[in-house]
Amino acid sequence: MRLLLHVCCAPDATVALERLQGMERLRLWFDNPNIHPSEEYARRMEAFLKLICHTGTDYQLGLYNPETWFEAVKGHELEPEKGERCRLCVSFRLKRTAEQAHQSGFDTIGTVLTTSPHKKTTMVHELGEAIARDFGLGYFSEDFKKRDGFKRSVELSRQFGLYRQNYCGCLYSMR
Ligand code: SF4
Repeated sequence: MRLLLHVCCAPDATVALERLQGMERLRLWFDNPNIHPSEEYARRMEAFLKLICHTGTDYQLGLYNPETWFEAVKGHELEPEKGERCRLCVSFRLKRTAEQAHQSGFDTIGTVLTTSPHKKTTMVHELGEAIARDFGLGYFSEDFKKRDGFKRSVELSRQFGLYRQNYCGCLYSMR
């Protein structure tokens, strides 16, 4: 399997990295134009690069172009968390992951969004499977929060000294 794994933040990627050691080809793809403001984006990207320094994993950074994200969720800004805005946001990032995987010769996509207990795993997987299918790719349907995954991500983040944010990421989740 050649997996392009979308990373929303370094803490959520820690447990995935621990579990996927020895995979034939794995690249972490940090692509999150949803994050607001840009200073917060820089902080999360810095934490991601710190994790990369610790683990030596292959990685790639997506383009930070928040205007494309605002367009993607337009009309749903005030929806509550886990509602339609979040579905569009996850779909937007997974589509970009699939496009990148297609361009770079990966055959499977996945995301570490499932590490968080604040995300609807079923919704993430349904979107991931449909998007991957559209691009002729496989979908790595792992629920990283299972088997105490979230607890482990907290431990590993502490061990690596990683910044842990206190809101999901977008402007509307800061409320
Ligand atoms: S709350 Fe999180 S998942 Fe939902 S739209 Fe905002 S950044 Fe995306």
